[in-house]
Amino acid sequence: MVDIPKESKAAVLEEYNQPLKIRRFPVPEVEPGGMLVRIEIAGICGTDVHQWRGNLGFKPTLPVIPGHETVGES
Ligand SMILES: [Zn+2]
Repeated sequence: MVDIPKESKAAVLEEYNQPLKIRRFPVPEVEPGGMLVRIEIAGICGTDVHQWRGNLGFKPTLPVIPGHETVGES
């Protein structure tokens, strides 16, 4: 059995065109059929840059945790 930490960290977009803030979040319960992945690295792509600038075509409600290209271990 793996020891699951209670908290994790994420780089959070809180204001457009400002540095991301490192924030702590509780690790959620894993729902049946779900998977908990420990992210080792995350890439930054053009979509993330446009989102950071606020010119993605839509403006999501902030704060947002960017990053959708990740590598991790389950
Ligand atoms: Zn991408």
